[in-house]
Amino acid sequence: MISHPLDRNNVKKLSQLIETASEVIITCHVKPDGDAVGSSLALCHVLRQLDKNALIITPDTPPRYLRFLPGFKDIFVFTSNKELSQEFLNRADIVFCLDFNSLSRVDQMTDMLASCTAPKVMIDHHIAPEQFCDITISSHEESSTCVLLYKVLCDLGLKPMIDKETAACIATGMMTDTGNLSYNCNDPDIYTVMAELLRCGIDKVKLWENINIKNENQLRLNGFAISQQMKLLCEGKAALITLTREQLDSFNYQKGDTEGLVNIPLQMENVIISVFLHEEPRFIKVSMRSKGDIDVNLICEKNFNGGGHKNAAGGEFHGPMQEAVKKVEKSLEEYLGIVQANV
Ligand code: 5GP
Ligand code: MN
Repeated sequence: MISHPLDRNNVKKLSQLIETASEVIITCHVKPDGDAVGSSLALCHVLRQLDKNALIITPDTPPRYLRFLPGFKDIFVFTSNKELSQEFLNRADIVFCLDFNSLSRVDQMTDMLASCTAPKVMIDHHIAPEQFCDITISSHEESSTCVLLYKVLCDLGLKPMIDKETAACIATGMMTDTGNLSYNCNDPDIYTVMAELLRCGIDKVKLWENINIKNENQLRLNGFAISQQMKLLCEGKAALITLTREQLDSFNYQKGDTEGLVNIPLQMENVIISVFLHEEPRFIKVSMRSKGDIDVNLICEKNFNGGGHKNAAGGEFHGPMQEAVKKVEKSLEEYLGIVQANV
């Protein structure tokens, strides 16, 4: 038996909202990943089956490695047409906010989402959700928004609407947020839900293969990053990879090409924190991963205006790469000093 995220009151409230709505907008965090895109597409499929006019608006372009997902090409990108996005939001009867816990996570779309008067429903698994939604379904104990969404759909009595396509989208987010069930995956519910999705007809093997397909440039970029750009910090307890714009461009980099790279240094026995910095047009993107009790969410919140989860978090640095590296070194030393002082 899987857990039930919705109490009776919320089932009623959400069921009524969905029943009376005809125009539904679904959005997720900027730089959407497999969980953000997977949960958005899954919910969109179910709502369309219920004859709702559902549309996904992502704050920026979703990564191309997810293009195999059913419905991917129908995703509307906010930055490609802001005026039309405003029109869609004006017409919405509900806005679903998936896989984010704070308005600022929709980046350039923040003001438009904040001023939208339609009822908002959050389904998310990040710590400490901001209260900007009319219904907040949030549990940081869930490994992905996708697994939480599956449970929400069950609580709403919509399980029969989960077809093979929807199941593939849900499974994708469950796999990408746990490294194909290799970390943050000790909750037995994950396997119960995955078994149900397999019964819907998904090919999990093929899905993971699709998620990981890389062209030569992508593979060489990831190899270069590890062999040439990785250094060890804090007496070998931390690893840092940096990639400048120039280096990224030399491999014809496109968004999402380094997905998963930050996890690799954790394969080293003594490494408990892995950091990846890469230059984006407006800032340096910070990505962190950790093992066990090491809380990179805290480090990213305090030093990089970011957040996430205990073992996977991110943030931003505004300034040159050398300064970003110094800040990473200082913040890791400080955090590990504190941890050591506490043991
Ligand atoms: P990634 O390193 O894959 O970009 O992100 C890992 C986790 O941290 C995800 O849950 C993501 O939502 C969160 N995250 C990444 N960047 C940011 C950020 O700039 N701000 C916040 N609040 N969370 C972030
Ligand atoms: Mn997620």
